Amino acid sequence: MSKYYNPRRTRNLFDPNATEPFRLSRSKIDLFIQCPRCFYLDVRLGVGRPASFPLTLNNAVDTLLKKEFDIHRAEKTVHPLMKSYGIDAVPLQDSRMEEWRDALRRGISFHDKENNLIIRGGVDDVWVSPQEELIIVDYKATSKDEEITLDDEWKIQYKRQMEIYQWLFKQNKFKVSDTGYFVYVNGKTDKKALDGKLEFDVTIIPYKGNTDWIPKTISKMKTCLMDGRIPKAGEECDYCGYVESLGDVMRGNAIDNNEKGKNRNLKSETKGESTKETLFG
Ligand code: SF4
Repeated sequence: MSKYYNPRRTRNLFDPNATEPFRLSRSKIDLFIQCPRCFYLDVRLGVGRPASFPLTLNNAVDTLLKKEFDIHRAEKTVHPLMKSYGIDAVPLQDSRMEEWRDALRRGISFHDKENNLIIRGGVDDVWVSPQEELIIVDYKATSKDEEITLDDEWKIQYKRQMEIYQWLFKQNKFKVSDTGYFVYVNGKTDKKALDGKLEFDVTIIPYKGNTDWIPKTISKMKTCLMDGRIPKAGEECDYCGYVESLGDVMRGNAIDNNEKGKNRNLKSETKGESTKETLFG
């Protein structure tokens, strides 16, 4: 097992008896929407998904974009890209920018007192309009030949991410524009050779967010966490079936095929009944 992955975390787990507010990063909202079981296993039982490898090229693009917009932030000027897209705004100057951008430790947060959860997330950038409305900005990097749009089904995650940031700023009493922007950087592959540098096209895509779904979802997350039962698996993920079958096979040497079949049926009938249930039955 890789030294970077701890399959059974014991810290930062939700405790239904605790009175302290529990901190949840915005990515856990997405995890809950994708699969309440995976969310529960991670946040309540400490079994998180293995982390993916760091996207170092994407991170480099993020850092350079931040530096570029920071030049205009310091000078309170409009970035030429914003000008070419007719966006009437400048990068926001605020002493809390670094804090809001710190996705790992700080970010922007809000304490939902009703559910006693602190939701937090780190933004890429914030612009401000002449009407003092904040505009949430997210940087994305890709490399594809087709035109960049937000139409791919999986990009719903990007849209939710933008909406959560808009909501977090609204909860912090800021006036926030419903329209946010994705600054999309697309690595060009139509060059004859790399020639020591990768060139990019930059596109700005507006997105009108709707934050109405967020409070209801946070309440459902809280209900899920308070429950003593492991929720059902998401319908579109095959891994739980894989893990169950793996468990069957790993223990199956001592069981004949008929018995294994009976055991599997028994397990699926009791699925989601109790935290005593494990993925291996
Ligand atoms: S169904 Fe997939 S996403 Fe859900 S708990 Fe199982 S592995 Fe995780």
